[in-house]
Amino acid sequence: MTPWFDAHTHLDDTRFDEDRATVLARARDAGMAGAVVCAADPTRWDVTRAVAEAHGLIWTLGLHPWFEADLDDDTVDALLDQLHDTPTPHGLGETGLDFARAKEPHARQRQRRVTAAHLALARVRDVPVVLHVVRAYPQLLSLLSQHPLPAAGGMVHSWSGAPEFIAPALRRGLFVSFSAGVTRSERLQAALRAVPDDRLLLETDCPDQPLRPGTRGEPRDLLVLAAEVARVREAPVEHVLRTTTFNARTLFGSI
Ligand SMILES: [Zn+2]
Repeated sequence: MTPWFDAHTHLDDTRFDEDRATVLARARDAGMAGAVVCAADPTRWDVTRAVAEAHGLIWTLGLHPWFEADLDDDTVDALLDQLHDTPTPHGLGETGLDFARAKEPHARQRQRRVTAAHLALARVRDVPVVLHVVRAYPQLLSLLSQHPLPAAGGMVHSWSGAPEFIAPALRRGLFVSFSAGVTRSERLQAALRAVPDDRLLLETDCPDQPLRPGTRGEPRDLLVLAAEVARVREAPVEHVLRTTTFNARTLFGSI
């Protein structure tokens, strides 16, 4: 059995509260060597950390653009201050630009400011950054020109951009992570083919983005995703699992 790594999950989500240990046992039995538990709700950063540590997983904290959207400026600033006072040894995120969610100029500008603040803190701490990007790929690439990644690097999780944005993303040092959407989209499959082996990551984003819409995703689903990625890249699935696991450990280290 080839070990594999789920580069982006929300295993701290309440939808796993009933059976988290069972879900993780299923994943470990199927070869899961590790996973990143990425904060979404900033009122639950302590839960994100506690869940990840209880199960020997990587954890990152940040201000997700969906949650940020519901907050006023003062609350956002207070959360950024709190983040400065909170250790994040494995990385920061998820944060980023979601212009499907933020339509007004002020909201979009605030997403830029929040993302830049995460990048600045990540450079000081030299930890990787996890970026969420929806309908804002040119804007993210220009933001990264002014506010570069830390030496520790960063990833775009659940890539949804056009294939032509892959090359500039690679030039800025990003790893590119694909989720279940790539099994259903020729455009995403073209983007997948443009990513070299040494920058590729796989993720479930569970419980969201399940393989079958309407169900709850879980880490074990990554094996189905990997098989489809292997088909698209015309590579053995073992090779896909091995290289993406190596890349995840390069970016996040091992615990
Ligand atoms: Zn996520």
